[in-house]
Amino acid sequence: MDCIFCKIVKGEIPSKKAYEDDSVLAFYDLEPQAPVHILIIPKDHISSCADITEENSAVISHIFEVAAKLGKELGLDNGYRIVNNCGEDGGQTVKHLHFHLMGGRQFTWPAG
Ligand code: 5GP
Ligand code: ZN
Repeated sequence: MDCIFCKIVKGEIPSKKAYEDDSVLAFYDLEPQAPVHILIIPKDHISSCADITEENSAVISHIFEVAAKLGKELGLDNGYRIVNNCGEDGGQTVKHLHFHLMGGRQFTWPAG
């Protein structure tokens, strides 16, 4: 499958890693939209949030544990934003489920 994030997981495309374990990888976004901008992904390919099921959803709670850990480690004590873009209308460009962890500046709401 021609998936750039699967290639990043396999090390075929280089990335600046922020965290890694057996099921999750976190790496810095190539085009950061905030002073801290990390992508947190399941190592196993899930195409989008719309493909989360009872069988594969355990990794999602783990991703949020990793996000909280990274937020503390990176000193984002004033808060941060976690974003998932799902599908065409959601603005998803890479079809491997990922959560953006962004911090170090004030965000506005609603986004976009
Ligand atoms: P999406 O728009 O799908 O929610 O977000 C995809 C994100 O992946 C974008 O923020 C984009 O900058 C990032 N991205 C795309 N290709 C690469 C890559 O090869 N390496 C890294 N580190 N980030 C990438
Ligand atoms: Zn993939």
